Amino acid sequence: MAKPFSIAIHGGAGTILREKMTQALHDEFLLQLEASLCAGQAVLAQGGSAVDAVVSAVTVLEDSPLFNAGRGSVMTSQEMVEMDAAIMEGRAHNVGAIAGVRHIKNPIQLARQVMQDSEHVFLIGDGAEAFAFKQGYVFTEQDYFFTERRYEQLMRVRQAGQCALSESEYPDDDKHGTVGAVALDQQGNLAAATSTGGITNKQYGRVGDSPLIGAGTFAENGNVAVSCTGMGEFFIRKMVAGDVAARMRYLGEDVATACDSIIHGELKRMGGEGGLVAMDANGQAHFSMNSSGMYRGAIDTLGNMVIKIYADE
Ligand code: ASP
Repeated sequence: MAKPFSIAIHGGAGTILREKMTQALHDEFLLQLEASLCAGQAVLAQGGSAVDAVVSAVTVLEDSPLFNAGRGSVMTSQEMVEMDAAIMEGRAHNVGAIAGVRHIKNPIQLARQVMQDSEHVFLIGDGAEAFAFKQGYVFTEQDYFFTERRYEQLMRVRQAGQCALSESEYPDDDKHGTVGAVALDQQGNLAAATSTGGITNKQYGRVGDSPLIGAGTFAENGNVAVSCTGMGEFFIRKMVAGDVAARMRYLGEDVATACDSIIHGELKRMGGEGGLVAMDANGQAHFSMNSSGMYRGAIDTLGNMVIKIYADE
């Protein structure tokens, strides 16, 4: 009999306001989330690794212009796209992370490549891209990442002279759009992956929480896998993904208690809006958010799929 396996994803905490969400856009979000889940689930069902499952799931979201990662990434103050991504596997604690890449179609695939084929765990900017091209990656022009929607967001945010999360109408309107996935495979291995364009109008060279292990991404077999989304500056300062793992490991908290403790507790008190998806060693997923919503979905160990957008769903 197949051993239990499961996958859960997020497409960013903070969502388009209900009054601005059209039925067509709503359906498109659900479709992309479902496609992402199915891509990851197919890998797991065939006995594939949690690492490959989270990469497959995240790749689907990176290819969609709807999410703030890969194709739909937000723009820096220089009107460029700069992306960050990380992957961690829970068995041997192998890690691959990249930051500030501008010409890589699927940053999460490059993060896996750094993990598997380099001597390092974290490469940035030109160095990360040089490694990629040596591995046969295609140079992707910035034009591929350019979307009218992100350009308009940049113009609005720039006018206010601030930075903002991906769905923001206004800089103080906290919205987020990073993508991530966590999975348990049939061998009992956990993995977590996160990919992002960061925040609109960010200073070039700015790095968020997503590629930082223990801040936006973490995985540890027998314990938990975590992928976060939100204003990275807060998630870094509170080491959110690592905090969830430490609570479970040292305090013996279950996955829901550990996630809610930090997301609704210290992080929120500090002003850090956002959320995360986590999966425990039994394949039990938990979504936690202190924002009005988070694009999210899971297929549990029994094969049941759930997809939701708003916090009150
Ligand atoms: N966490 C990401 C960052 O700060 C942004 C997001 O979640 O949308 O780079």
